[in-house]
Amino acid sequence: MDCGDTVTAEVCEEADMRDGELREATVAGHTVLLVRNGTEFSALGSRCPHHGAPLSRGILKGKRLRCPWHGACFNIKTGDIEEYPALDCLPCFKVTVVDGKVFVTAKMKDLESSRRVKDTSKRCLLNQDTVLLLGGGVAALVCAETLRQEGFTGRIIMATKEKHSPYDRSKLSKEMNLKAEDIYLRTPEFLHARGIELWTEREAVSVDFQRQKVRFKNGSSQKYNHLLIATGSHPNPLEVPGADLQNICLLQTPEDSSKILELATGKNLVIIGASFVGMEIAAFLSDKAAAISVVEKKEFPFQNVLGSQVGGVAMKMLQNKGVKFYMKTKLSELKGKDGKVTEAVLDSGKKIPADVVLAGIGASPSSAFLKGTSIARDSSGAILVDLLMQTNIPNVFAAGDVVSFPVALLNGKQSSIHHQQVAEAHGHIAALNMLKKQKELHTVPFFWTTMLGKSIRYAGCGEGYTDTVVKGSLEQLEFLIFYIRDGYVVAAASLNCDPMVSLIAEVLCSGKQISKEEAEACDITSIPWLTHT
Ligand SMILES: Cc1cc2nc3c(=O)[nH]c(=O)nc-3n(C[C@H](O)[C@H](O)[C@H](O)COP(=O)(O)OP(=O)(O)OC[C@H]3O[C@@H](n4cnc5c(N)ncnc54)[C@H](O)[C@@H]3O)c2cc1C
Repeated sequence: MDCGDTVTAEVCEEADMRDGELREATVAGHTVLLVRNGTEFSALGSRCPHHGAPLSRGILKGKRLRCPWHGACFNIKTGDIEEYPALDCLPCFKVTVVDGKVFVTAKMKDLESSRRVKDTSKRCLLNQDTVLLLGGGVAALVCAETLRQEGFTGRIIMATKEKHSPYDRSKLSKEMNLKAEDIYLRTPEFLHARGIELWTEREAVSVDFQRQKVRFKNGSSQKYNHLLIATGSHPNPLEVPGADLQNICLLQTPEDSSKILELATGKNLVIIGASFVGMEIAAFLSDKAAAISVVEKKEFPFQNVLGSQVGGVAMKMLQNKGVKFYMKTKLSELKGKDGKVTEAVLDSGKKIPADVVLAGIGASPSSAFLKGTSIARDSSGAILVDLLMQTNIPNVFAAGDVVSFPVALLNGKQSSIHHQQVAEAHGHIAALNMLKKQKELHTVPFFWTTMLGKSIRYAGCGEGYTDTVVKGSLEQLEFLIFYIRDGYVVAAASLNCDPMVSLIAEVLCSGKQISKEEAEACDITSIPWLTHT
């Protein structure tokens, strides 16, 4: 039935759908997601606003639906976002059941979009409170948006060193041919409409916590009532002779990404470090560079996090594309001609021709501007926060890559986790606690890495794992691997096995422990351990 801009369609028989079922249905030519929870039905946007995953293949737990790809969660009654990395909510449609038939009523404009931006308050000039956010990454962005979503009407300033609106940094190593504007998470206009002031090219150089004032590189300063430090991390530079030659690159910004693509196309690229960044770049450039060599001190790529089995799979994938690996060896020197790099010399004496060198050897917290202040930091420079994202200084919060926080899956031990979803969760919690909501961080870390069109998903925190359980086939690139510490699953990774990692994330999130024996006994084609109610 079509009533102008509203349409009603019969989508199924009530008895046709079982409790906990997720199903796609068509309304006026658009796909919607139908969910049955007990006797209630919901209808929502069918695609995750993050990367468009089909939510009908997600995980339902009570009223919460988790995306099968990157773990974002939505409330099925409201469509509201409950877990990142997605920033937006799902459109939610009216469902009625008449004579055993299920009908969905929706506005055409809502059907046409698979995302709904949360309503927010606006700035009110009578409210003189100022929240100053240092950094323009996802942690600061989510903090700013949450403040407005929660009704804060004071001033919000987001001051970033870069010249861009917040963008999706995770794409820089996966799609290097994109312009900065193509990966903006929010445009300057979006922020402006919500009264969020974006100050670009405004690097903080010092903070006077006593006077509640930040000084910037351009000589200006700004007072605050609440401060969020979300300055992220920066890639570690190489420290070998010749590291100051031209064409030695780090990857942090869209400009770096474009420069690496330009320099490496048709040339000899040497990547130092088989980290996520190094491996993703090797994959993206494998059909563009003349030759790619990866130098790594460990035996396998991303060995510390994913282990030798998954590292071995990733290595093979890239070797099949002609990427050469030099493992268990170190770079000892870079040689050059006319100021430009020409050769990478390894510990073994091996010389590799190099027109471009990329360092992917880890990242450090961007907190040098806090040196000499009383803010508590660990030996790496990461700011210490509690579960409210509070630092040791009143009214000062910190979030994202720059912090060390108590990680539930490490029994509350302080640690830094550099994932997009974690940074967003931090920003959200910091905002709530600036507003005195006393809300603690409760999240299961989730990340992904993509090479040659294949995504490895990872949930949990496997630091210190001693054992693994592999399900499926590593060789056939279809597997789920459990990381075991003290007899229990603390993390899982998968390739071509959705939605298993989302399922494990949801189980870990509920506090249930999965023993090694349960992991060994499980059948990955069915869903163990989690009933949706
Ligand atoms: C190439 C790459 C690929 C990645 N891929 C993935 C992935 O696939 N999945 C995943 O989960 N995570 C990925 N990550 C990690 C993820 O991007 C980070 O965890 C996330 O961006 C952290 O967000 P943040 O807001 O804490 O910091 P950032 O995104 O680093 O933002 C910090 C901001 O602060 C600014 N800043 C720094 N110092 C100052 C200062 N003194 N004054 C003002 N501003 C300052 C910076 O310029 C920057 O804009 C990737 C990271 C990189 C670099």
